[in-house]
Amino acid sequence: MDRMDIKSLSYEDLERRLVGMGERAFRAGQVFGWLHEKLVTDFDQMGNVPAALRERLKEEFALTVLEPVEVKVSRVDGTRKYLFGLADGNVIESVWMKYHHGCSVCVSSQVGCRMGCAFCASTIEGLERNLTPGEMLEQVYRIQSLTGERVSHVVVMGSGEPFDNYDSLMGFLRLLSHEKGLNISLRNVTVSTCGLVPGILRFAGEGLPVTLALSLHGSNDEVRRSLMPVANKYPLEEVLSACQEYFRQTGRRLTFEYSLIKGVNDSPSQARELAALVAPLHGHVNLIPVNPVEERGYHSSGKKDIQAFQAVLTKAGIAVTIRREMGRDIQGACGQLRRSFRKKQGCQKADPGGV
Ligand code: SAH
Repeated sequence: MDRMDIKSLSYEDLERRLVGMGERAFRAGQVFGWLHEKLVTDFDQMGNVPAALRERLKEEFALTVLEPVEVKVSRVDGTRKYLFGLADGNVIESVWMKYHHGCSVCVSSQVGCRMGCAFCASTIEGLERNLTPGEMLEQVYRIQSLTGERVSHVVVMGSGEPFDNYDSLMGFLRLLSHEKGLNISLRNVTVSTCGLVPGILRFAGEGLPVTLALSLHGSNDEVRRSLMPVANKYPLEEVLSACQEYFRQTGRRLTFEYSLIKGVNDSPSQARELAALVAPLHGHVNLIPVNPVEERGYHSSGKKDIQAFQAVLTKAGIAVTIRREMGRDIQGACGQLRRSFRKKQGCQKADPGGV
């Protein structure tokens, strides 16, 4: 497994490697097109690449291909949740959602997660490892091939913290939007973070038109700290000023994600506090009824409380949406399908009970 993953290489690096192997530079365009536009799963499918070169590619490179281990289709809205097997035996999950504006894939960035958010299933067993750019891309590629429908939008909101795997994230975004690949506009891409300030600032400097989503979940540091350990390191003031900087450098409006948990963060006074917090920030708030996670003992707010919470924000002039609950019947929330799969396999570790 030490062979370089060919799908993770940038166009320039692929060209350099091929020229280094004595090939003509134009071969890079051909190979890149097979990998990133035609989405082949085998070197032998590269029709216009000479057989001798295909053999050399097999010797030099690994080709990341994800195998669907389990697919769940929501009867409510057609959302599909894929559990993919990786070459090393790990499994990750990705979600396909169909909207009126196109098809969207929710991509995982790590196997597991070390951020320790109290309501999230992905983090219960900690971080296993980072995903490579190729493994992140393959989630989009395989789902497009399996559904036969063009993917137009990508959200990096699956398991893992994208800014904890910064280099892979950047490689992924560059390949995803490459004109010789799927050429997905970065305006249609959202990256969601729990609030790693250095990551937000570094990402702001990349100058990409990506939408940044911040997982807020609390209207003050106290509540936020009780739900998200990362808030101990980066208080709201710092996180929000990094978001402001992101807007300043990219001109992109931010999204603030706020999962409503009964009796924890869903009171009208917290809604007022949230409104005051985000008002100066050119963003919109996305309210998510929390997906209950059995191990965590958190319950979703009632419909009335959710509507009241939304009304306070609207009255304060904040743009706010309630996220459609896509695929709740198929364990749509972060890490839930992987977790139930691993439980079935009998390979779960003891629950650390909140990191
Ligand atoms: N690490 C990144 C992205 C992954 S999670 C982040 O924290 O933003 C994508 C979103 O789903 C985050 O806002 C996360 O807090 C939220 N989330 C995780 N588990 C959830 C659950 N059980 N119910 C509702 N939202 C959840």
